[in-house]
Amino acid sequence: MKNQELLLVPGPTPVVDAIYDALSSETRGHTDPRFVEVFKNALLQTKELLKTDGEVFVVAGSGTLAMEMAIVNTVGRGEKLLVISHGYFGDRFLPLAKAFGIEVDVLQAEWGKQVDLTLVEQKLAETQYKAVTITHADTSTGVVSDLEQLVPLIKQSGALVILDGVVATAALDENMSKSYGHPDNKIDIVLTGSQKAIGVPPGLAIIAFNQTALEARNELGVIPAYYSDIHNWLPIMKDPSKYFATPPVNMIYAYNEALKIVLEEGIEQREKRHVAFGRAVRSALKTYGMTPLAAEEVAAPTLSCLSYPEGIDDISFRTNLSKRGIIVAGALAHLAGKAFRIGHMGNTTASMLEHAVREIGEVLQELGKQVNIDEAINKFKEELALFVN
Ligand SMILES: *Cc1c(COP(=O)(O)O)cnc(C)c1O
Repeated sequence: MKNQELLLVPGPTPVVDAIYDALSSETRGHTDPRFVEVFKNALLQTKELLKTDGEVFVVAGSGTLAMEMAIVNTVGRGEKLLVISHGYFGDRFLPLAKAFGIEVDVLQAEWGKQVDLTLVEQKLAETQYKAVTITHADTSTGVVSDLEQLVPLIKQSGALVILDGVVATAALDENMSKSYGHPDNKIDIVLTGSQKAIGVPPGLAIIAFNQTALEARNELGVIPAYYSDIHNWLPIMKDPSKYFATPPVNMIYAYNEALKIVLEEGIEQREKRHVAFGRAVRSALKTYGMTPLAAEEVAAPTLSCLSYPEGIDDISFRTNLSKRGIIVAGALAHLAGKAFRIGHMGNTTASMLEHAVREIGEVLQELGKQVNIDEAINKFKEELALFVN
């Protein structure tokens, strides 16, 4: 294992040696047929993961670039976008859309809760939106969205469904060929980044468009974008020996390897594993007097945001934990200092998480809190056992 520390922030996530090895392969020219084969395979594997018959785009950038690509290629200046926000990353679509002169409305959930479906229904009945964004899991709150409810509502309104999967893709099923209640009710765009549940270092923006979304791009004609314009990338994604802008060759080696690992495990199995990890971590940490921000029914399988027990200082907690080689993240916005976030996704294993639960208990003891580590470990194992059976 090359990793010296256990990186449990909600992205980047632990990278395994096979992926590091791929990353450090000899760099080839981007038109070298040996690289072109790998790029083609990475694109095919992306299509397989998302089960799309549309087009996928894998470009140098981060998740935010994929968010921008989703918006600028589907919603024109003066057209309307609705954002269903479960926190900080949902909210990011607002300034993004405004930067392109898009009219944007937002439904913001109270942090830790889901947006009320009746409000979504009302909004969609009042206004014709070109597209609606859903953040599959919001990394600030640890709240997961209910696609079974949201996708049909949005599609019946005639809007496109744009799914931000940055902290969900490859952990939760994002099946673009799945019909949600009606053959036309499908997710139109899934966007993601490399560094969360896929388990590659940061550096790739990944996005899939179905045929409806591709047509929406065609109908827009000229758009205020160049690097983000999928029309510039389409020829390359159809034939990766062509050139538009140099692909991040080594990142694509790493991504191709990561997808091999993901597809070998299988998305159904991965989803089960992530659900179990989320439950196990929260159940264990609750015994320490920590409280998850999201109720269990709406909690994300990939990460959790938990408030500290009385008297525990955020900086001391995270500093002491990092001295033990375990890195977790602070909370965002108004929760900063009051809560922390722990990722349990991608290449993370049950034994890594069990180790983290133990070390968190020891740090709490160091900071003067009485906790029962054995009880926490038992809770952790109980939840995981449900997954194994
Ligand atoms: C991390 C994240 C983003 C932003 O991705 P970057 O790679 O940091 O640009 C967007 N949406 C969600 C849900 C995220 O978790």
